Amino acid sequence: MTAPVHPTYSPVLLAARDEAPGVRTFRFASWPGFTFIPGQFLMFHFADDPKTWRAYSLCSAPAAAKEYFEVTVGMVGDFSARLGALQPGREGRLVVRGPFGKWTWNGEGHAVLVSGGTGLTPFRAMALLGKGKATLCCSAKTPDGLLYKNEYEGWRKNGAIVHERVTQPGSGMKDSIGEGRWTADAVLAAANDAAAVYYLCGPKQLVSEMKSGLQGLGVTPKNIRTENWGDYTDLF
Ligand SMILES: Cc1cc2nc3c(=O)[nH]c(=O)nc-3n(C[C@H](O)[C@H](O)[C@H](O)COP(=O)(O)OP(=O)(O)OC[C@H]3O[C@@H](n4cnc5c(N)ncnc54)[C@H](O)[C@@H]3O)c2cc1C
Repeated sequence: MTAPVHPTYSPVLLAARDEAPGVRTFRFASWPGFTFIPGQFLMFHFADDPKTWRAYSLCSAPAAAKEYFEVTVGMVGDFSARLGALQPGREGRLVVRGPFGKWTWNGEGHAVLVSGGTGLTPFRAMALLGKGKATLCCSAKTPDGLLYKNEYEGWRKNGAIVHERVTQPGSGMKDSIGEGRWTADAVLAAANDAAAVYYLCGPKQLVSEMKSGLQGLGVTPKNIRTENWGDYTDLF
């Protein structure tokens, strides 16, 4: 049996904007029939370099998928730098396939969404669902690094609980639970719900430490769902 071949698309870049220092959001026109579940990602490559693929999480509202989709990307290496140089309306020779992934939340039950830095991107799609109960525990190294800051009030109006933290000491930022780097205790206090399911996204260190911390405090492994983007620490 041959493996299924996923169709590829070359979507038009409609707009690009700076989201935070070194982080850009790209809005592409959707292709006919495009839909996704929050948490899913697309695979991207440039037409002249088909072997270099990168995954980017869909971060826009699923309800808008008929028209457009967005990804937010940290400019951290060669591929993301090339993406960052794309100009809306110009031929970018970008090739996309997907959506992929079973690490999803479709608004059922209570999801507690823990992220560091750009790990917030799939959670934006979850917050924009406006369905179910979402508690966000996000963090960035500096106040400037917190993505989508001007949207948090809208997410709250949509029913989400949003806690934002800055991990660099001396920021003066404090939420109702505490301050600084998220610990498993603080996340449990924010969740305040024995039946919650925990979604962890971002660098390996945050994901693995939070996972073992939550398990150590009695959260069952089946209620912890992780998306590990790699071994880096610079943005959280
Ligand atoms: C399922 C999945 C979804 C992803 N979704 C996103 C997303 O929505 N937005 C996004 O920015 N990245 C996302 N990533 C990471 C992304 O696929 C690339 O790894 C990243 O863009 C680096 O590619 P590069 O070629 O630019 O740099 P590389 O040369 O491949 O990497 C340079 C360095 O940056 C580190 N790095 C990778 N990702 C990040 C990051 N986000 N922030 C800081 N350092 C990083 C790498 O570990 C490496 O040390 C996702 C990864 C996976 C597996």
